Amino acid sequence: MENKNIPYKIYLDEADMPQAWYNLRADMKNKPVPLLNPGTGKPMTAAELGGVFCDELVQQELDNDTPFIPIPEEIRGFYKMYRPSPLVRAYCLEKALNTPAKIYYKFEGNNTSGSHKLNSAIAQAYYAKKQGLKGVTTETGAGQWGTALSMACAYLGLDCKVFMVKVSYEQKPFRREVMRTYGASVTPSPSMETEVGRRILAEYPGTTGSLGCAISEAVEVATTNPGYRYVLGSVLNQVLLHQSVIGLETKAALDKYGVKPDIIIGCAGGGSNLGGLIAPFMGEKLRGEADYRFIAVEPASCPSFTRGVYAYDFCDTGKICPLAKMYTLGSGFIPSPNHAGGLRFHGMSSVLSQLYHDGYMEARAVEQTSVFEAAEQFARIEGILPAPESSHAIRAAIDEAVRCRETGEAKTILFGLTGTGYFDLTAYQAFNDGKMTDYIPTDEELAQSIATLPKVPGME
Ligand SMILES: *Cc1c(COP(=O)(O)O)cnc(C)c1O
Repeated sequence: MENKNIPYKIYLDEADMPQAWYNLRADMKNKPVPLLNPGTGKPMTAAELGGVFCDELVQQELDNDTPFIPIPEEIRGFYKMYRPSPLVRAYCLEKALNTPAKIYYKFEGNNTSGSHKLNSAIAQAYYAKKQGLKGVTTETGAGQWGTALSMACAYLGLDCKVFMVKVSYEQKPFRREVMRTYGASVTPSPSMETEVGRRILAEYPGTTGSLGCAISEAVEVATTNPGYRYVLGSVLNQVLLHQSVIGLETKAALDKYGVKPDIIIGCAGGGSNLGGLIAPFMGEKLRGEADYRFIAVEPASCPSFTRGVYAYDFCDTGKICPLAKMYTLGSGFIPSPNHAGGLRFHGMSSVLSQLYHDGYMEARAVEQTSVFEAAEQFARIEGILPAPESSHAIRAAIDEAVRCRETGEAKTILFGLTGTGYFDLTAYQAFNDGKMTDYIPTDEELAQSIATLPKVPGME
């Protein structure tokens, strides 16, 4: 029974914080298909993955069956510094929109890294430390992941080497300084420091870089330096697992007040916040215990779900990573340089791809000027300056709430507010100056990058 006196912010007691991550794959009938070795076309073994990733994270990556994986005490201790994160009833937004809908958002921006990425960064750094490694390498696009990882590494005393997509490195010098303050080294990508970087620069001189390209560089450094492993802030099964803490907290908080969302909305880059937010709700849906509408929101300029194909592809531009089956635009896809809103990855989590393919989830693409309009409206009404990525979810939540106004339905809408936008002021500036433009790739452009999908041995 829904309690009418719902506070603006619903907090959980520390004692009610999740003790274990929830592994959604355990409840999926159609499991996400395995990563493949690009050379042999055979599933990647734990031993092969162990050359790139930390051992315990490899176990988590491959585990499709264990529903709950205990959160180590040390990680729970770190989580308590900034979690539970607030779940907010957006009364002010509801009023401004004059909608009968009830809107809730889970706010993950209340830590220095400014996003949900810290939830997985601390977990990955913890397992690297436990394995006795010297350090980790990674890529970062907008910079949130690199910041989160440098915070986690500083806390645990690990070395942290970040390859930052060149366009972001130049647009976001302050992000770089935060990372350096936490002790990380930051290199613009593509760089001359790696073989793959030199190869990409030779092929595409003057490129502004891409996440896929930075991944290639970070993997090369991890696999050629003893005592280092590579860590990734999104897309992978293990990252969705760690991010389930978002959904578990949200569900526990809503359950306290007897609230059941009708529509659950998240922005989707590689899929980790969305996968984490929806996890326990999707679990109920998969088990036939409850029904929800799930909506993934992506940029129209990088539309993996809505215009990509479901196929095996490389996760990186340099084509050195394993193949993942996912909705993809092709690993050579680079969003147009006017794209300011993050969510630039060409592919999508295998877990979410399978769920979308099986019809458990919807997806929609939105244009960046409409995303920033939603961001501005939200900032002025609810007070929080949202990250451009998060604002994709805000856009869809507002659109759904407006639809409720038109139909008179009092739906309960939940969305993930993944972070703050303090480091995205160049993008806000373009918007405020009226200089922001939209760019939707043509069918020909997409066909061109999709045509470069790898031929998987034995799968033709
Ligand atoms: C990285 C990031 C995203 C997108 O990543 P997902 O893995 O799709 O969640 C969304 N919002 C913010 C604030 C981010 O930093």
